Amino acid sequence: MSKIRITKQFSFETGHALYGYDGKCKNVHGHSYKLSVTVIGTPITNRNDVKFGMVIDFTDLKKIVKEEIVDQFDHATVFNETTPHIELAKELKDRGHHVILVDYQPTSENMVVDFSKRIMGRLPDGIKLFSLKSLYSTNITHNYRIIIYLSYTIPCLIYLYIILIFNI
Ligand SMILES: [Zn+2]
Repeated sequence: MSKIRITKQFSFETGHALYGYDGKCKNVHGHSYKLSVTVIGTPITNRNDVKFGMVIDFTDLKKIVKEEIVDQFDHATVFNETTPHIELAKELKDRGHHVILVDYQPTSENMVVDFSKRIMGRLPDGIKLFSLKSLYSTNITHNYRIIIYLSYTIPCLIYLYIILIFNI
């Protein structure tokens, strides 16, 4: 049976600050993210399965990514809890702001790795995460940087993208 890839795109806005960084991203600010989630699997062959012929129901994939990423990160600010930013995070939380504490430097690269773990933990048996492509705005002209997470190595993309490889 052929392997089929399914891709769905999501958009959200997230803030962050990079403690110790020597550029503008040391300040609290936000980005617009466009996340493309691609999963791979074989279409269900059991005629008695209500999802017969599907790799995964788009509605199910949407539910997973919405619950694990969009609903949690949209209009939230991400701080590294292992830095003095923990104090700022506590202050904002106490004032009712939507804050996410993580145990890593919240660069877009690391956030894509985090997203991948969250999605992989929810995928049904037989479905694997193939790639995560994250485009995020870098300035007011709405230029986007691309961070791509791939579960397979595609050497030709190394020049264009940052690739995080995960062996499945
Ligand atoms: Zn930033």
